Amino acid sequence: EVKNMLSKETMLEKTKTHPCYNCGAHEHARIHLPIAPRCNIQCNYCVRKFDCPNESRPGVTTTILTPEEAFERFKVVKEKLPNLSVVGIAGPGDALANFDETKKTLQIIRDYDPDITFCLSTNGLMLPLYAQELVDLGVSHVTVTVNAVDPKIGAKVYKYVDYMGMHFIGETAAAILLTNQLNGIKLLTSKGIVCKINIVTLKGINDEHIPEVVAKMKELDCYMTNIMQLIPVKGSAFEDLPMASQVEINKIRKNCGETMKQMYHCKQCRADAIGILGEDLSIELGSCRGKCSP
Ligand code: SF4
Ligand code: SF4
Repeated sequence: EVKNMLSKETMLEKTKTHPCYNCGAHEHARIHLPIAPRCNIQCNYCVRKFDCPNESRPGVTTTILTPEEAFERFKVVKEKLPNLSVVGIAGPGDALANFDETKKTLQIIRDYDPDITFCLSTNGLMLPLYAQELVDLGVSHVTVTVNAVDPKIGAKVYKYVDYMGMHFIGETAAAILLTNQLNGIKLLTSKGIVCKINIVTLKGINDEHIPEVVAKMKELDCYMTNIMQLIPVKGSAFEDLPMASQVEINKIRKNCGETMKQMYHCKQCRADAIGILGEDLSIELGSCRGKCSP
C-alpha cells in the first residue's frame, strides 16, 4: 500500500511548472541546494569540486550548506525570485548518499512552504531503501542517472560501488547498481513519482547501447530521458574520452524519441544553481564566501 501519494492533478500541475520537465515552463526558476557532499559510487567521468565558481557543470558548488543554511538560502531566494517553483537536491555528491541532510532540508522547507515542488537527482543505488520516504517527504520528481543496462558496459563506466558497508568493483559493482536502479525506479513510478533518466553519452562505451537503456526506461514508466553530452573533466578517468558532438547527441535523441519523450534543453547545471535555466544567480544570490581557488 502506498501512503501519502500526491494526487494525479497535483503531479500534472507540478510537472507543468517544472522548467526541466517542461521546456515551456522556462519562466519558472529552480534552486539547487548543495547539501549533499558524499557519494557512494565513483563514475569515471566525475570529479567533485566544492570551491570553484568559474565552472558550470554538475558536481560543482561554491560551498556545502547545512540543512539550516540551505533553508536560509531558500528563504532569501524565494523573497527575491517570485517565480521560484522548484527546490532540487543535485549534489555535488548523491542526494541519497546524504539522506539525513536531504530529509532534514526538505522537511524544514516543506513546513515553511507547502506548495514548492521538490525534486532530486541520484545514481539510484539507495532508491529501493528510500522510495517510500521520498513519497512521504513530498518529492514529486526524481532524476536517476542510468548509463547502462548491461553490467558489462556498466563495469567500464563505474570505478566502484560502496554498498551496505562493502566495496565492489567491476561487473559485480555495476550489477548491484543496475539492480537497485531498476527496482528503485519501478518503485518510484508505481508510487506516482515522475522520473527523468539522465544518460551520459560515452563514445565507444555506451553510445550504441543508449537505445536499449531508453527502451528499458520506457518499460519502467519513466517520463522522459535526458541524453547528455559528456563534459570531460581534468583528473577524471575519462578526461581524454572524445566528446560526442551536439549533432551526434541530437541524432541519438531523435532516434530514441520514437521510444519516449526526450529532453533537449538541459543545461547541465551546477549543484548550487539558482534562477531560470541557463541563468545562474548562484554567486549573486548564493553565499560565495570568496574562498575559491579557480
Ligand atoms: Fe559523481 Fe554523481 Fe557519479 Fe557520484 S553519482 S560519482 S556524484 S556523477
Ligand atoms: Fe534541469 Fe538539466 Fe539543470 Fe538539472 S541539470 S536543473 S535537468 S537543466
